[in-house]
Amino acid sequence: MKKRNQGPNTSLVHPEFKAPDGFSAFPTAIHHASTVLFKDVASMRSRSWHNKSAYTYGLHGTPTSFTLEGQLAAIEGGQHCVLAPSGLAAITLVSMTFLRSGDDVLIPDNAYGPNKELGEWLKQSFGISVRYYAPMVGAGISELIQTNTKLIWVEAPGSVSMEVPDLRAICEAAHAKNVVVALDNTWSAGIALKPFEFGVDVSMQALTKYQSGGSDVLMGAVITRDTELNNRILTTHMRLGLGVGMDDVYLVLRGLQTMKLRFDAHDSSARKIAAWLKQRPEISKVLHPAWEDCPGHEFWKRDFTGAGGLFSVIFSEDIPEAMTDRFVNSLELFKIGFSWGGTHSLCVPYRIEKMRENWSQKGILVRFNIGLEDTDDLIADIEQALTKMREA
Ligand SMILES: *Cc1c(COP(=O)(O)O)cnc(C)c1O
Repeated sequence: MKKRNQGPNTSLVHPEFKAPDGFSAFPTAIHHASTVLFKDVASMRSRSWHNKSAYTYGLHGTPTSFTLEGQLAAIEGGQHCVLAPSGLAAITLVSMTFLRSGDDVLIPDNAYGPNKELGEWLKQSFGISVRYYAPMVGAGISELIQTNTKLIWVEAPGSVSMEVPDLRAICEAAHAKNVVVALDNTWSAGIALKPFEFGVDVSMQALTKYQSGGSDVLMGAVITRDTELNNRILTTHMRLGLGVGMDDVYLVLRGLQTMKLRFDAHDSSARKIAAWLKQRPEISKVLHPAWEDCPGHEFWKRDFTGAGGLFSVIFSEDIPEAMTDRFVNSLELFKIGFSWGGTHSLCVPYRIEKMRENWSQKGILVRFNIGLEDTDDLIADIEQALTKMREA
């Protein structure tokens, strides 16, 4: 079969062997590509990278990433999904799509920290007005909307202080003035909150969390229902060149299959641990949306069907930071580290008053991410660390 006159290098890059068709198995195949091949010039010219019925170039996706995008859109009740190399890249993608010099954006004061950091950059280097609003503003957001306001970010709940906003009221006020609403929906994984039912225009996910589930991959997604909005996002995605690696996409596809089971397990364990903490004298508030201590608890009850594994507590006022640091250092199963949604439990103390424009509550805030360990073991770990905290 070997063609005459072809040198060994040509044979190596143009192999004769073709694997037979008809292979079938559960995993989505990992299609790597920068170059995508066209059968002839006419098909090359006829394809548009905006259109997912065909392939054009690795940046715009392969069957592997299209499959993940389709699944993520379906989970949230959306129509379109664009992947980005991290959750933060997905946030940047949204802000860069809807904002230009002279525009105004409203970001909740309890937003994911790097979203506010991006806001500072937009303000300083891009001539965009960036204002941080009180997360419980509700319908009052209407008064903050200016004629140049183009985008309102919402986070439900805020991922450190856990206030649950009145999403319906914010969407209603925004739409009355033609402003796009983008939700950072990472906390609910799209499982416990269906954002498009409440009027959200753009849902953003850090797939790094529950979707991957393994603390081993960074990825983000931007999901929409509206084709025109999606096309604008796709254009920015191309201009910024936010490609993702297909091995990482595969990891997320793999994690996704067990996501609902894991999410429910995180949720039930976290609620038991929050309830246990609630009756401890060292803890003054449990900032878990399913508890009345948590601002916006009523909106969580109205809009959400679950809670996941992330919540915070506020220690009682008379416990200084040195003691809460000792508590965190004394934990054994809980590790110290950012992020959440993986199998392992984590615990992080925050200097919340430095993160917020107006934070008047006394007491140290500590955030727990409840992993998939046995609940009783996690409670025992917290109990021994509370004892050590009081000793020294
Ligand atoms: C983690 C996280 C992000 C960013 O995701 P990365 O993939 O780590 O960049 C954004 N928003 C929220 C609420 C997050 O928890």
